[in-house]
Amino acid sequence: MPDSAEQAVRYFRRHQQLYGDQLILGEPLESSEVSGDKKAVVDRPVTLAEYEEEICHCQKCPLGATRTKFVFGVGSPAADLVFVGEAPGFEEDRQGEPFVGRAGKLLDKILAAIELTRQDVYICNILKCRPPDNRDPLAAEVEQCLPHLKEQFRIIQPKLIVALGRVAAKTLLGVEDSLKHMRQQVYTYEGVEMRVTYHTAALLRNPRLKAPAWEDFQTIRDRYRELAGLPPWQKPEGPASAG
Ligand code: SF4
Repeated sequence: MPDSAEQAVRYFRRHQQLYGDQLILGEPLESSEVSGDKKAVVDRPVTLAEYEEEICHCQKCPLGATRTKFVFGVGSPAADLVFVGEAPGFEEDRQGEPFVGRAGKLLDKILAAIELTRQDVYICNILKCRPPDNRDPLAAEVEQCLPHLKEQFRIIQPKLIVALGRVAAKTLLGVEDSLKHMRQQVYTYEGVEMRVTYHTAALLRNPRLKAPAWEDFQTIRDRYRELAGLPPWQKPEGPASAG
């Protein structure tokens, strides 16, 4: 989407948050002129970039002191489809970007197979800083960091959230369930449809999971297209056979 179109989408989303479906033309109100909940909305960051700037020095939990780089997220700020993993790993911590390294390259390949790129979607983690030795996030860390993710969702307003891996799924949903069962369910998180599939690192460890993961990603592709108002996916036609 061109920058100007993205800006227009963000503007109208923002306008709708403030004024509902009523179209108000003319000079915007100053923060002080808006009361109650609407003022609270005005005082919050408008764009993902502003929000990243606001929280990139976060020290709300001890992981802030041990990170190399803060890992906010990457992709389109107006994405309809958002992928969420659990936390940055070694490479992510080093580069400041989620899903890089081998697991990230595999995610890029899978996205390409459903005709998407990193720039079409948004990719982030529940925790923005790396836990030591890639251990699972602690409950206290999640409690401190989850508001950051919720704010990202509030700004992006995706139509479909996909949790990558059991840890991300159970942390968001607050359930203890098997990934096998969770990937067959449709959930709602913060009012947004949510689905669950394997983390790409798990696919690297166990290639037998690639077939069920591919089934999931085809479902994700079809549902994303439906929710985004895109035409149903069609298999590309092969080269015409010689007569
Ligand atoms: S993990 Fe989250 S809460 Fe903890 S310091 Fe990093 S950004 Fe802040």
